[in-house]
Amino acid sequence: MSKNDRILVAGAGGFIGGHLVRALRQEGFEKIRAIDKKPISEWYQVFDDVENHALDLKALDACRKATKGVAQVYNLAADMGGMGFIELNRAACMLSVLINTHLLLAAKDAGVKRFFFASSACVYNAEKQRDPSVRALREEDAYPALPEDGYGWEKLFSERMARHFREDFGLVTRIARYHNVYGPYGTYEGGREKAPAAICRKVIESKLSGNPEIEIWGDGKQTRSFTYITDCVKGTHMVMGGDFAEPINLGSNEMVSIDQLVDIVEAIAGVKLRRKYNLLAPKGVNGRNSDNTLIEKIFHWKPSTSLRDGMELTYRWIYDQMTAKASAVNTGSGTWPKPSSTFSKEKVT
Ligand code: NAD
Repeated sequence: MSKNDRILVAGAGGFIGGHLVRALRQEGFEKIRAIDKKPISEWYQVFDDVENHALDLKALDACRKATKGVAQVYNLAADMGGMGFIELNRAACMLSVLINTHLLLAAKDAGVKRFFFASSACVYNAEKQRDPSVRALREEDAYPALPEDGYGWEKLFSERMARHFREDFGLVTRIARYHNVYGPYGTYEGGREKAPAAICRKVIESKLSGNPEIEIWGDGKQTRSFTYITDCVKGTHMVMGGDFAEPINLGSNEMVSIDQLVDIVEAIAGVKLRRKYNLLAPKGVNGRNSDNTLIEKIFHWKPSTSLRDGMELTYRWIYDQMTAKASAVNTGSGTWPKPSSTFSKEKVT
């Protein structure tokens, strides 16, 4: 991949997209086009030395503007969130098919050289995820198809569409299946947050309010693996630049139960809370882990951040955001959170 290539990051105002733009800049890519549906003032990270546009990529016209003169597309744009969002917004999740379809079509017509699609562990067959002590999921476990309703079906369909654009039209497509990505600049409130950020927020709320109780969705025994954002971004760049064309797991295989995840956050926060289990809340499948045999074989790569270390950085960032917001409200000094010591809201001019 040439550093001179113009690169489109779709979904750049979101969590992973923002980190990817940051990383591409650091690697020396100079022509980056960052696009998201949200107004730029709401993007998690904004870099003034790249081209930033607010555009809704569900529309074909917008996709044509977005891909004009572009050599590589990273498609991270999707209407998504944690279980609380995807279980209750299946139609909205499936409408992301318009982004994926139109962006592939526009990319093909614009002569784009490489196209990355961010898929998800939610494509895997639900029958293979019934047990908390699940066998880690291998790439072939997506079939026979029985993915997460709504969101997972859309991802699986779009994976196949990317494959057929490659086979029928010669567009070079690359696909990674992300497994629960977390880290600073992730959503931690508002309904789209995922378990690591939600648990950090709840522990911080308990700590700040002195209420010793925490609500956990499900019975706490459901298992997952979580991927730290820098590993996800490195892996994304690697898969995009590689020769492997089939969907590949990009995740950690350090599996924990939700209770164990809460243990980790409590230890970071220095608190011990009373757990109240909400068995009626959305909780997803009982067990899920990433089998990394394929990515280790093809790319000789493993994620390098332990869950304990990644959660520590995530917790500190969310803590800084929440305490800064609270003090801004108390002093009437505005709503923008004060920058954290580890990760500041980066605005580069
Ligand atoms: P995110 O919600 O933070 O980012 C997605 C961005 O896409 C948002 O900023 C949103 O505004 C934007 N977007 C939505 N609709 C759009 C549209 N019509 N036009 C332009 N932009 C639009 O989510 P994320 O965690 O950064 O996820 C990025 C990608 O990775 C998504 O495709 C997601 O499905 C996939 N993924 C993420 C995870 C995870 O754990 N975060 C796991 C599996 C897959």
